[in-house]
Amino acid sequence: MVQTLKGGCLCGAVSYETEADPVIVAHCHCVDCRKSSGTGHGTHVGLSEEAVKFSGEIKFYDSPADSGNIVSRGFCGDCGSAILSRNSSMPGMAFIRASSLDDPGAVTPSMIVYASRAPKWDIMDPSLPSFAEMPEGGPEKVIADAQ
Ligand SMILES: [Zn+2]
Ligand SMILES: [Zn+2]
Repeated sequence: MVQTLKGGCLCGAVSYETEADPVIVAHCHCVDCRKSSGTGHGTHVGLSEEAVKFSGEIKFYDSPADSGNIVSRGFCGDCGSAILSRNSSMPGMAFIRASSLDDPGAVTPSMIVYASRAPKWDIMDPSLPSFAEMPEGGPEKVIADAQ
């Protein structure tokens, strides 16, 4: 059965939908994800960007990851809701913020990265594999291993 994921920002100016299967769903406690999240982590749904139909104008803010790769974080310029991010090392991949999904329960996170940077009150599912930093090889390897 094909699952359609739909989502968008708070004000409705930006929306998207896709039938792509996520290749990874991960919680990230890095400082940049936290600061752009509104809480202690961002939850990222990685899938093929060409399979996502976006509408509305998404603004991007670029910042370097620990690896030196550039992470571009896309958000609604009107209401500020985080929508997705891209990573310069993984062209063609979109990391949709689970917070922007109409039904966040439609995806299942499978791992936690940068757990050492989590605030102590941001308690995650203890049954998930958890890494203090980014696992060796970076997100590219995590995704390759997940496929
Ligand atoms: Zn908006
Ligand atoms: Zn992060």
